[in-house]
Amino acid sequence: MKRVISCLVGTILLLSSISFSSLATNGGIQTCASLCGDCNRGEMVQTSIERSSWYSVGYIPCSYNKPNYNDTIKRRTITTVYECTYCHRGESNTHYEEEVVHDHP
Ligand SMILES: [Zn+2]
Ligand SMILES: [Zn+2]
Repeated sequence: MKRVISCLVGTILLLSSISFSSLATNGGIQTCASLCGDCNRGEMVQTSIERSSWYSVGYIPCSYNKPNYNDTIKRRTITTVYECTYCHRGESNTHYEEEVVHDHP
């Protein structure tokens, strides 16, 4: 029980030290296992993580200032699956990861 309490305190400190705008990505910040909402006895632990392949979502002017070239904004979906250690209820959490690619000469 003591571990759970210190875990919660850590989460609150983390949330208060970052700006609200960075929470926009689905609020998917989970620093430690949380208690199962169904049975209230087990912990939700991560069982698997799935990453989709990258796909293009848009273009921006080249960030290295190469004239007449655009960089591609790529995104992939990351799905994290959690399972309760007691009742084995499954739960998944999806968020995005984005990167800018210089896929031009
Ligand atoms: Zn570029
Ligand atoms: Zn449970």
